Parts: sequence; C-alpha cells; structure tokens
Amino acid sequence: MTHTHLPTSAQIPATEMNFFPPGSVLGVLGGGQLGRMLAISARRMGYRVHAFEPNPDSPAGQVCDVEWNAEYSDIEALKKFAAGVDVISFEFENIPRSAIEAVSAICPVHPRAEVLHICQNREREKSFLRAHGFPCAAFAVVSSLEEFRAALLQIGTPSVLKTADFGYDGKGQVKLSHGDTPEKVWAEFGPRRGVLEQWVPFHAELSVICARGRDGRAVTFPVAENQHTRHILDLSIVPARFPETLLKKARSLAMEITEALDVVGLLAVEMFLTHDGALLINELAPRPHNSGHYSFDACVTSQFEQQLRAVCGLPLGSTELLSPVVMWNLLGDLWEHGEPDWSRILSHPTAKLHLYGKASARPGRKMGHVCVMASSIEEALSEMSLIRDSLALP
Ligand code: AMP
Repeated sequence: MTHTHLPTSAQIPATEMNFFPPGSVLGVLGGGQLGRMLAISARRMGYRVHAFEPNPDSPAGQVCDVEWNAEYSDIEALKKFAAGVDVISFEFENIPRSAIEAVSAICPVHPRAEVLHICQNREREKSFLRAHGFPCAAFAVVSSLEEFRAALLQIGTPSVLKTADFGYDGKGQVKLSHGDTPEKVWAEFGPRRGVLEQWVPFHAELSVICARGRDGRAVTFPVAENQHTRHILDLSIVPARFPETLLKKARSLAMEITEALDVVGLLAVEMFLTHDGALLINELAPRPHNSGHYSFDACVTSQFEQQLRAVCGLPLGSTELLSPVVMWNLLGDLWEHGEPDWSRILSHPTAKLHLYGKASARPGRKMGHVCVMASSIEEALSEMSLIRDSLALP
C-alpha cells in the first residue's frame, strides 16, 4: 500500500489554505453596506465575521462579531486583525496596497492584491482591458497640460476627464464639450494623473456580476439594466429588457474578464450598450456591487453569499432569478424633512426594505435600498413608482 504524504492543516502555511468551512472566521476590509450584507450572509451560514474599518459603529461593524477601528495606514492593527481571522475579503476598493500586502502575508486574501491594484485605478484598469482586447471607449492617460492637450486632439469632444485614482459615482470627473479651453479645465482638475475618455452616447447601462471560485469555476448573475441620476445608481431593473443574445454576450464578456484577471471572489462589470448594439466596458469592481443588491431578495444565491462561498473554497450556488425585480437606492436626500415614513414602503407587500444603519443622512449618501418583485418588470416598475411617489408626499 502506498502512502501519500498530504500535509496536515497544521503544516500548511495559513496563506496557502484553501478551504474554510462554516465556523471559520471571515475578515472583511471595509465596514460599509456591502460588508454588512456579506456579514449577514456569512453569519447565516455559521461563520464568524470580523470587520476592519476606520470609523466606529459602521454598517458592517453593527452586524459583525468584531469591529476593528483603525486607519488602513496602521499596519500593526492590520496584522493583528489578520492574525485573528482565517480568510480575508474586502468590500471597499480604495484600500492602500501596503494594507493588502500586510494582511496577505499572514492570511489568504481574495481577490488577490494584484486584482485590487488593477481595479482601483482607471489607468491600470483601462490599460488591462485594452491589452486583453476587451472593448472599451477610446481613452488616453494624461499627467500634464501638454499631455492633456495632445489627448484632446486624439480623443476629441465630447469626452470626460476622470481621475486615475480613487474615483467612484462620478467623483473627480469633468465633462468636456466643444470649445472648452484645455488650460482652464486642467487648472481645475490637475495637477494629477487622469484618463481622458471618449463620451459614449449610450442607449443603456448594463452590469454583470461574476463569481469565481478557488477551483476556477465561475457563474454570472442575470444582467441588470441600470439607471443613474447625478452619476449615482438610481434603479436596477432585472432581467434587463434586451434580447437574450445580447444578455448572453454581456454575461460571457464578464466571465472572460473575470478569468483574465484570475479573480477569486466577485467581479462586477459595468458596461455601456451603444445605439448600434455594441457593449463597451466602463468599470470593474472586484467586490459586491450596488447593481447586484437585487440578488439578495430575488436570486437563489445572493452576490454576498457567492462572495463568501468563493473566498472560502465552497461550491458556488445557483444564480437563478426567482422573480423579475426592480431595486431603488434610498439616498440621504430622502431624509431632508426627517426620517421617511417606512410604512409607505412596507404597505406594499412585495417590497423589501434594506437600511444600512447609518447614523447621519447626507444628500447622495446611500442609506438603504428597496426591492420590489412582481410577475413582470412592467408591474414591478409601476409598483416602484407608486412607492417613490408616496415617499415624496409631505
Ligand atoms: P463612473 O464613475 O466612471 O462609473 O461614471 C459614473 C457614470 O457616469 C456612469 O455610470 C455613466 O452614467 C456616466 N459616464 C461615465 N463615463 C462615461 C462615458 N465615457 N460616456 C458616457 N457616460 C459616462
């Protein structure tokens, strides 16, 4: 009889372990609503959850076993946090590389540091997409007035100048039209690194979330059709109201990008659908995504549970959509005259209310969301518009 000498778990370095069953401790970098919903899913499956977040009483911290409050620059605190968990994922993209590297040396982190490094910066993200032949709007990298002038000649107007680092929900973006003076725009924007991108007069915005496990198996969620107001997601409509062939194309694009990046965890892929039916990638996010919140109520497995399964080495669940669904983001603007009257939402029996436990509401701040399920998208949309109208009443 031959004996294979498999190492016992005590002999496997912590950073190479690849299976974390229920009962293990999941560490989450970031304490926002995405971490909160991940923690809720993880606790439901018997995991312990520790969140690392600079601000106390965070949305995720409120539902975790332990909330660490320290800055991402506090490497000692990060090391202690990593030593107390079995596997780490994140819900927030703007984590400094030094922080990810510090925890990666102690404990497995998924998606890996390099994925985060690429996706947290538009220059690296767009260059990755272009180098791998994925379709995206024409762009040029700019870091000085001279480069900006040259980029404007190449890309033209209308276009949009975006910061390379730390941008989301339209922050750090300037739209350029014919006749704008480069010097004036650059003086307001620079001096920093940016990406000048062609403006896409899109027909619709779509997004696909792909989950990929440690064994390389991947599944995509149904395509969401997204409507934004002031650059912030307002509504997600699922299934997106487009032909099946287009939706399949969107899902396979998301799957191919996830594989090319070798993501273990989630990758959200935002796309523009142009008037001639082409799909152009706008943005990638290696974490749960606002446009995937519908999955918490309307799919067999939510994006949050899928993230947990993927990073813990568990089989992925079905992403089947159980019902047409519309998701509406509740922004802080709704609190203008005090706490909204939630019974106006809850009196609609198929509406599901999610609130993130944030103490103060500011205009544009994501405070919660509502999902409405119905037998058709049309019905869900009209129910949602009744809800919106009722909240607008005095
Ligand atoms: P971003 O922060 O890059 O995701 O941009 C936020 C929103 O701005 C997008 O969801 C679009 O609605 C709009 N946007 C960004 N870039 C472009 C573009 N190149 N063309 C048209 N709309 C854009």
